[in-house]
Amino acid sequence: MSTPNPLDRLLEPAEATAIIRAHTPLLDTEHAPLADLAGRVLLEDVVSDEDQPPFPAATMDGYAVVSDDAAPVRRVLGSQFAGTVEGLHVERGTVAYITTGAPLPPGADAVVQIERTATTPDGVRIDDTPRAGQNIRPIASDLKRGDRVLASGTVLTPAAIGLLASLGRTDALVARRPQVSVLATGDELVEPGQPLGPGQIRDSNRFALVAALAPLGVTVRYAGLAPDSDAAQRAFLIERIADSDVVITSGGVSMGQKDLIKGLLVELATVHFRQVRMRPGKPFTFATAGPGGKTLLFGLPGNPVSGLVGFEVFVRPALLAMQGHQRADRPHARVRLAHAVTPIDRIDYMRVTLRRADDGLLDAASTGPQQSSRLASFVGANALAIVPPRDTPYAAGEMVDALLLDAV
Ligand code: AMP
Ligand code: MG
Repeated sequence: MSTPNPLDRLLEPAEATAIIRAHTPLLDTEHAPLADLAGRVLLEDVVSDEDQPPFPAATMDGYAVVSDDAAPVRRVLGSQFAGTVEGLHVERGTVAYITTGAPLPPGADAVVQIERTATTPDGVRIDDTPRAGQNIRPIASDLKRGDRVLASGTVLTPAAIGLLASLGRTDALVARRPQVSVLATGDELVEPGQPLGPGQIRDSNRFALVAALAPLGVTVRYAGLAPDSDAAQRAFLIERIADSDVVITSGGVSMGQKDLIKGLLVELATVHFRQVRMRPGKPFTFATAGPGGKTLLFGLPGNPVSGLVGFEVFVRPALLAMQGHQRADRPHARVRLAHAVTPIDRIDYMRVTLRRADDGLLDAASTGPQQSSRLASFVGANALAIVPPRDTPYAAGEMVDALLLDAV
């Protein structure tokens, strides 16, 4: 009997996650322009160096007035539009026409909205008893000079980017985008669109993985397909370790004679583990390589669902963490099994559809046969129910954790 290789120790998913996290660097930073910030993580504190608004501004279209003026009909001095300063001075008996966002003319202390006025031959009639400050945004009421308006670690939402622009910023400090390379391996694989020869199937994993990468803020440096040839896979790994932050391979990490990635990673990188106690996706290799071990390598199994689940559970969080996301994991929720489930000897990531029941709980129903080749059961799954191993079956109605992939 051969001695077991320590690399083949079966890790619990949580242990695998901890090892990956310990080897995941925060990428170096860059100043990226406003148009290239969406969804990235701000890595500096942003302090306002001005008051907003910098002048008292009208919040309504109407007339700038003196609030304690009793005159029912008043003379119109002129118009104060947004974006200019007209030098009008409002006093009792007079008003200035004003539009939303325009600076309040000196002398005025309130704005009466246009709907509460009427034009007469003698001037404007004011059908309101305004209070001082009415319909006016005072100086600094949105932001004060010196306020910390965005903290380092903030995810740059549309509102945050708008705020940066409003402060006059043209760029912000963020992590550079991870360079990610993807390689599908297998002699049986042909490109979609090509005819299938005997024994062949189409490469679906590369396209699924590139799609899974799309919303994660990364740059896909290379995505290709290689046969089960040592030379081809070796060349890919050497080249991509040199120019990528993350290398993702599909296939070739199991026990078969053509599973070449497994051996190549041992040769060209430092393998940290290659088996996780989970289904699908038990063969899953994590390695690091390159100067300082800064390139992360993820060897996903070839079965399409195994690869995508491994990506969800391990790769996605690493890609987000290296860009500074503090919440790199998908949200979890407690869900109620809609039917009985037979547990297995490892954590079962079951593809489910979650639906909000009348009592407010989330019901989780399997999307169909759960074999790891069946992508059709992943389509429409908005969560992975996490079913831990145990001796007795789960009954309908029992609660388990779930990884939320999409809105419920
Ligand atoms: P492997 O992990 O290389 O042993 O592959 C496991 C299973 O996944 C085999 O049935 C392969 O044919 C299939 N497979 C491997 N790579 C892909 C791929 N890129 N697209 C679709 N199926 C694949
Ligand atoms: Mg293969």
